[in-house]
Amino acid sequence: MCDYSKMAEAYKIKMVESISLIPKEERERRIVEAGYNQFALRAEDIFIDLLTDSGTGAMSDKQWSALMLGDESYAGSRSFYRLEEAVKGVVGYRYFVPTHQGRGAENVLFPLLIKEGQYVINNMHFDTTKAHVELKGGRAVNMVIQEAYDTQLEHPFKGNVDIEEMERFILEKGRENIAFIMITITCNSAGGQPVSMDNIREVRRVADRYNLKVVFDSARFAENAYFIKRREDEFKDREISSIIREMFSYGDALTMSAKKDAIVNMGGMIAIREDEKLYTQVRAMVVPMEGFPTYGGLSGRDMDAMAVGLVESTDEAYLSTRIGQIEYLADKLIEAGIPIQRPVGGHAVFVDARRFLPHVPFNQFPAQALCVELYREAGVRGVEIGSFLLGRDPDSGQQLESPLELLRLTIPRRVYTNSHMDVVAAALINIYKRRQEIGGYEIVSEPEVLRHFTARLKPVKDR
Ligand SMILES: *Cc1c(COP(=O)(O)O)cnc(C)c1O
Repeated sequence: MCDYSKMAEAYKIKMVESISLIPKEERERRIVEAGYNQFALRAEDIFIDLLTDSGTGAMSDKQWSALMLGDESYAGSRSFYRLEEAVKGVVGYRYFVPTHQGRGAENVLFPLLIKEGQYVINNMHFDTTKAHVELKGGRAVNMVIQEAYDTQLEHPFKGNVDIEEMERFILEKGRENIAFIMITITCNSAGGQPVSMDNIREVRRVADRYNLKVVFDSARFAENAYFIKRREDEFKDREISSIIREMFSYGDALTMSAKKDAIVNMGGMIAIREDEKLYTQVRAMVVPMEGFPTYGGLSGRDMDAMAVGLVESTDEAYLSTRIGQIEYLADKLIEAGIPIQRPVGGHAVFVDARRFLPHVPFNQFPAQALCVELYREAGVRGVEIGSFLLGRDPDSGQQLESPLELLRLTIPRRVYTNSHMDVVAAALINIYKRRQEIGGYEIVSEPEVLRHFTARLKPVKDR
């Protein structure tokens, strides 16, 4: 049987932005000028930009028209109340405050929940989340299941929390030394891998046993719900919106970057299920950090676009198009024998650069080498998630070895067509054919913190 509705995108294009591929010699010049660091490239020199899915999505006609309804009143704007209604409908929590983006939410909420020296348990901390835990005196620990670290092992929910490990950790450190448990949906750092409802329920059970709070890091909540529907039998006939509400019902609060699933270019929030005391504290703290609680660093029009985007993100036809596009690219690469994180996750394809370039050692950054090569080949920008990102041991200064060396090809929402995915696949396949010729890189200069954004590199000569 042929399901025509699933053969094409669930939208058509109303506005376009020109892109072009600059000549090969020019790409070569640009990447040398950039110190072989894709963060230093200019967007205009890029053909297909797969750096991130954050804030890069295409808003719908309904979102653009909602912008025009923005009410820019300082306090109590109509836009705020429209967003509040959308949040209550989609998330199901009683309280919420907008923030300018996800890290703004972390900055406001975490000091209220973390005491000096306490641990925050997470399946896998996103980098700004880890930074905010540590800035507030906390200690960030990752407890994703071991399967997440083997790219070739098929598992439907590689973002799951290792429940036994978590309980053992709580008993060992003592309940009073745990600030809260965080569940990142989908698990960004493990490759956009989903967390099952079963696992979320187990986390809640353990949290209740030790009287701990559960907080969702919920940037890709809708994609997670879509995977639950597809991969967890109990949910195959449930509406996406109902799966989302059940997921969140097991949490006490959430932080959200609305730049991902909520498809806005800027925005975020904190939502709280029912703890009025915590909400009162959040409302007080958000004022000096983000803004008055009815705007939290956002314009009225931003809140209106977010209200519409939140609801659109739960549309199953859209989610099927979205995840379908990631799978389309992944299938082409798998067919060509290119090693990627499997099964493919929600927002990106992760190429296993250690298997792609086995002759390049970790301290010559194989995924960064592949990233540079992909730009040279076809003007495509991906991003390294490996030892170059991980950095050095703060005590010894030695380069650390990342458990995975990945090139992330992050797909913006509703932006590129499958023809663009064909370009990316063809380029990688051509690189794969000549992979023996590709060498590693060494660092020429680097700042002390978050070096991957500004460090300069050069090719290692003697191979
Ligand atoms: C993007 C992201 C954040 C931070 O959100 P920003 O909007 O970029 O500040 C936090 N957690 C996860 C899982 C994310 O993907």
